[in-house]
Amino acid sequence: MNIKNYINGQYLPPVFDKWLDNYNPSIGEIYGQIPNSSEEDVEKAYQAAADVFPKWSNTTLEERAIILSKIASLILEKLDVLAAAESKDNGKPISLAKAVDIPRAASNFQFFANAITQFSSEAHESVGLNAVNFTLRQPLGVVGCISPWNLPLYLFTWKIAPAIAAGNCVVAKPSEVTPMTAFLLGEICTIAGLPKGVLNIVHGLGTTTGQAIVEHPNIKAISFTGGTKTGAHIAKVAAPMFKKLSLELGGKNPNIIFADCNYEKMLATTVRSSFANQGQICLCGSRILVEESIYEKFKTDFIQKVSELKVGNPSENTTDIGALVSKQHLEKVKSYIDIAESEGGKILFGGNKVEVFNCENGYYLQPTIIEVQDNNCRLNQEEIFGPVVTLMSFKTDKEALTLANDVKYGLSSTLWTNNLNRTMQFSKQLQTGIVWVNTWMLRDLRTPFGGTKESGVGREGGFEALRFFTEPKNICIKY
Ligand code: NAD
Repeated sequence: MNIKNYINGQYLPPVFDKWLDNYNPSIGEIYGQIPNSSEEDVEKAYQAAADVFPKWSNTTLEERAIILSKIASLILEKLDVLAAAESKDNGKPISLAKAVDIPRAASNFQFFANAITQFSSEAHESVGLNAVNFTLRQPLGVVGCISPWNLPLYLFTWKIAPAIAAGNCVVAKPSEVTPMTAFLLGEICTIAGLPKGVLNIVHGLGTTTGQAIVEHPNIKAISFTGGTKTGAHIAKVAAPMFKKLSLELGGKNPNIIFADCNYEKMLATTVRSSFANQGQICLCGSRILVEESIYEKFKTDFIQKVSELKVGNPSENTTDIGALVSKQHLEKVKSYIDIAESEGGKILFGGNKVEVFNCENGYYLQPTIIEVQDNNCRLNQEEIFGPVVTLMSFKTDKEALTLANDVKYGLSSTLWTNNLNRTMQFSKQLQTGIVWVNTWMLRDLRTPFGGTKESGVGREGGFEALRFFTEPKNICIKY
């Protein structure tokens, strides 16, 4: 199936009629083509967005909220179609797309439909000076949203919903690896009554289409989620143009397990936080640090549980682990497993590609557990972004904290303990934007979401996102 750009409410082929192959990773075959869009396509999208901006930015908050809610309902109505499309495009189990990706995409629109009606700005009375200040929060204009392949519709809408709720018009690019649900979103927006040009979706490569969005002189802000290297490049291009930037980047998150935790709950959650979505979630706890007194027991139990996970065809409901997103990504993940032994690591479970019945050319890998001795090894320092976790033991709180913080990334961390003092000490000292205690991936969309260190700059979520997509302007009135 060929997909098209969504510009000014219409599906259009790319200006220069250039196309890219789209793969189904579960069978390793091309199943369609996507536009390989040029600067000219981005310009068209920009123009459509700029033309409608005066109208959209003056649309009442109630009207915007009604349209966003309608988009949310239509996404839920099309749950089965969208989940099947996401699974086919990405390789993730259809059950996961149905339970998480698609409902969450709907929640993103519903959340910001509600949030925009509650968003307010500030007023300051300059006491003794007979003056009052109030702050306007005005939309920026045309903004760029660029998203990755791991949670395609979920992360795409996480940016678009607050951008349009705040009154901006958008030029958006999904990952070229997983463009399908973004393509389907166009039609949903049309049916929901989103005015033409408010959202424009341009498909293509990062280095050309994405780069054209970032370089566009009149696109005022870039909200980007993806790899740290790409984020650094985008910052370099956008910073001299003084664009607003939100960068949600890679992670190498610690999962710190103390003996005093609720063991069964921890074990079940750790299986999920290690291997959900084939380990391709920026929040996965890929470095498991376990207190020495329970290390051997944990190792045995964890291997047992992980050995029960079924790697299989993503469209089967019994599948726990589907295909990795691409051949290239499978090779990258496998290359880390291949260096494990030379790094002093020991593969405790997995490590091999899997041949799935009727899907022999798909990109499947066993969930893999590697025991390492030294946190400085590449396996513990570099983002692998696949179904691979490392295990290490620690003796003291201090050692656990040092190990947890000893990486260049700082996205999230998970802590398992029932000790309140320890919880507070770790919460204060962990160098990550998100700390989960006795849970993982529990998301409240009002909370600030984002990373520290090389995991990014800025926060998404709740009013933080609405603040990002608006410019504060202070008005000072003397009376
Ligand atoms: P990527 O950086 O390769 O690509 C992300 C997006 O950026 C894609 O749409 C791509 O086409 C585009 N892009 C690439 N080069 C560009 C350029 N020069 N200019 C503009 N756009 C460009 O990342 P990926 O491989 O798609 O995704 C995986 C990465 O995303 C991992 O590092 C993961 O940790 C990260 N991620 C982070 C979060 C978070 O919230 N922090 C969430 C999900 C994924």
